[in-house]
Amino acid sequence: SNTEKDPDSLHIIHVTAEMAPIAKVGGLGDVVTGLARACLSRGHTVDIMLPFYECIQKEQISELTLITSYGSFHDGNWVPTNAYRGTVSGIPVIFIEPSNHFFKGQSVYGGSYDETEAYLFFSRACLEWMQVTLVQPDIIHVHEWQTGGLPLLYWDMYHNLSLKKPRITLTIHNMEHYGECRQEQLDKCGLDGSIYATEEKAVDDRTVGHNPERLSLLKGGIVYSNSILTVSPTYLKETLCSGWLASTLLRHRDKYVGILNGIDTDMWNPATDIFLPAKFNAKDLEGKKLCKYYVQKGLGLDLKGDSIIKGDNTIDASVKVPLVVCITRLVAQKGLHLITHAIKRVEELMIVLGKAPDRRVESEFKYLADLHNQGPSVRILLIYSEELSHMLYAAADMVLVPSMYEPCGLAQMIGMRYGAVPIVRKTGGLADTVFDMDNQSNREMANGFVFEGIDEGSLNWALDRAFSYYRENPSVWAGTVRKVMEIDNSWNNTAGKYIDVYNSVRVR
Ligand code: ADP
Repeated sequence: SNTEKDPDSLHIIHVTAEMAPIAKVGGLGDVVTGLARACLSRGHTVDIMLPFYECIQKEQISELTLITSYGSFHDGNWVPTNAYRGTVSGIPVIFIEPSNHFFKGQSVYGGSYDETEAYLFFSRACLEWMQVTLVQPDIIHVHEWQTGGLPLLYWDMYHNLSLKKPRITLTIHNMEHYGECRQEQLDKCGLDGSIYATEEKAVDDRTVGHNPERLSLLKGGIVYSNSILTVSPTYLKETLCSGWLASTLLRHRDKYVGILNGIDTDMWNPATDIFLPAKFNAKDLEGKKLCKYYVQKGLGLDLKGDSIIKGDNTIDASVKVPLVVCITRLVAQKGLHLITHAIKRVEELMIVLGKAPDRRVESEFKYLADLHNQGPSVRILLIYSEELSHMLYAAADMVLVPSMYEPCGLAQMIGMRYGAVPIVRKTGGLADTVFDMDNQSNREMANGFVFEGIDEGSLNWALDRAFSYYRENPSVWAGTVRKVMEIDNSWNNTAGKYIDVYNSVRVR
């Protein structure tokens, strides 16, 4: 790529519970990998430290080698621990493998061990490894509650030993995960848990009378880190105004920054995407029409309107029927009642691709699938499929993201890159990336349809406007499709802001 190198090279070590693609559960994994790759290509030194989960497929790691055997502390003992080095997606990774039962099991989370204790152990094991190997990065970048204990261990223990140089940055990807922790669990990793049982430090503000027995690792991480980041400017404002951590974040506001996530523009590229039967770009959209046609045909949707391929392989654009796509985990955060409302209301074409972790939600959507999937215009696919998601973004005229809250959100950014115009609720990162077509004062940024309320009427209003633009203003619509495809939501564009934060706290 043509990325310019930053003049001042930093050494950054991410300490994280997830990394895409080898240990990915959600957005955290994508962010760590995308940010690390962007910083590497700007000329920085980056390592990722990850638990060596038993479920990681070793074939996906190249040049895996044992580099250090050492002991790391847990519950009065030094647990023999191995550190391995390997490369994943071009990024150097250090895998921490304790000899006890931590991180054993079939999946990244939900093993039969105490996760709080396991991640506290991991946090300490990473610092212990730096101490043993004399590696002193400029920045240790921790993420979410899982590694929120590391800043405590750093400032109250390892900084008093031999680690002097590193400064700590914490990214909060989703404030809902609080990292509940008891004093005795902190004791087990070698800290004095009672020290943190104050409101200024780590007491869980949700407990009645600030029960000193209940602490929050995320809150402790906020208090003890040199800088705190979250994944969009609007989510930053929202988290300062409400929620359990608002008062803590307000107290630390001067070190709190909101930076939008990027998307991986190599993986999400309609001009080269191997999952698409026809490629396209902002200047040539014929391939997109073909993708829509294949999706309609493949899923047995009514071939009404603009997807009809004529004998000479051109597409008859006489009748216009838009395709709305919604690709999401089916959980309350994502606005389930608005998704089901859209399914009932949209008479055009709509496809939902989603997986419901909750049994009751799943059966509700199964019922809707049975009701609609034989019909001409709606398909509800209750599976996780990376491949299908690429096809659907490519086929879509519109991508619907009606979240109740959304720290950043990737679906709207991916959709735009594939020429799908976003219809979103005005919250978090959605509010920072989508600007309404009918907002007269912001014509330059206009790229989609935005609604504020959480009621069905608010969504209807946005859907109706999108459909009428599509039908009645084809040239404006085509211009908007090209415009959204050319918006730069890449990591390249956003990594520089992270580097600025790193530079603002590093020790020179
Ligand atoms: P969150 O991290 O809260 O799930 P994001 O919008 O940040 O939400 O990221 C969701 C990512 O997961 C997007 O890349 C989206 O395409 C993908 N995704 C969600 N559900 C599915 C599914 N059923 N099949 C394939 N991809 C999915």
